[in-house]
Amino acid sequence: MDKFSWRNVIKMSEVFKIGIVRGKGGVGKTSITASLGYLAKNDPDIKGVILLDCDVDAPNLALLFKPKGDISVKDLYTCFKAQFLEEKCVHCKKCIDEKYCEFNALNWNDENQVPVIDNLSCEGCGACAYLCPEKAFSIETVKSGVIKSYTTINDIPLIYGETILGATTSGKTVSDCKNFAEKVNETVSAQLAIIDGPPGIGCPVIATISGLDYILAIVEPTPSALHDVIRVIGVANQFQIPFGIIVNKADLESEFQDKFKQYILETNYDIIGRIPFDFSVAQSISNAQPVVEYAPNSKASTAIKEIYENIKNKILNV
Ligand code: SF4
Ligand code: SF4
Repeated sequence: MDKFSWRNVIKMSEVFKIGIVRGKGGVGKTSITASLGYLAKNDPDIKGVILLDCDVDAPNLALLFKPKGDISVKDLYTCFKAQFLEEKCVHCKKCIDEKYCEFNALNWNDENQVPVIDNLSCEGCGACAYLCPEKAFSIETVKSGVIKSYTTINDIPLIYGETILGATTSGKTVSDCKNFAEKVNETVSAQLAIIDGPPGIGCPVIATISGLDYILAIVEPTPSALHDVIRVIGVANQFQIPFGIIVNKADLESEFQDKFKQYILETNYDIIGRIPFDFSVAQSISNAQPVVEYAPNSKASTAIKEIYENIKNKILNV
């Protein structure tokens, strides 16, 4: 595969990028991402791996990898919020009476006869600044999140974004995270990037998926997980990115199993592997390690290693 030709410095556009996504939370995505990253790091066939956590509203990949040294932090300013300029306000109360704010972010302070902005609700739309006859609002850029990066004790470069409470730009944070990874990779020249994606099909997912070479969609045999992953697959199809399915907790006993198997059979999706339910996964998370490191001979680890080999053979062609 051309993308895998080894060079001294590899740009992110030349790195093979695999995104791990799911429709709903709690289906084992981060645990699988961590284990695949760990296996790639210890695989002599793969010349370097870099891990990204683009689940910027709830990043937890870093919980499974202790840092070797310092964690570097970069502030992001991609979010807009309204600021109230009290000296310009003539206390007419039009902003409340005429409902300038569609997001209910403006409240009235009776004592001081001024509007009060609820920062968490403010979407930075600019309507108040536009409508106030006295120009008593301005729209300012505020801190929206951070990008953190460090080298793990297993020598894997790990980068993740964290959105600040109330920030409205998770998708932009994901893009910034990916751009930052590009810079990191100028130093580490990894050949493979494994990206832990956010749930759902919204802006952060689209920002994560764009530019990927392959998507691994994680699903459990439950109605809600299947329903939600179908929506993610719809996004993957829209972007024309090839994808495969990993069924987690594949041996879960439920009335839905037969329907689930039938659906997968009919759709002819590429099944990359099945992971059985295994308590060692939960134990590995408690121990802050990928399960393939914590319990390498467990049922789940054996299945994940098979999946890893499938990825190498079927997707990476190495
Ligand atoms: S902020 Fe503007 S609209 Fe609201 S009370 Fe003050 S002057 Fe009137
Ligand atoms: S910027 Fe928009 S969302 Fe924020 S307070 Fe003004 S009108 Fe409401």
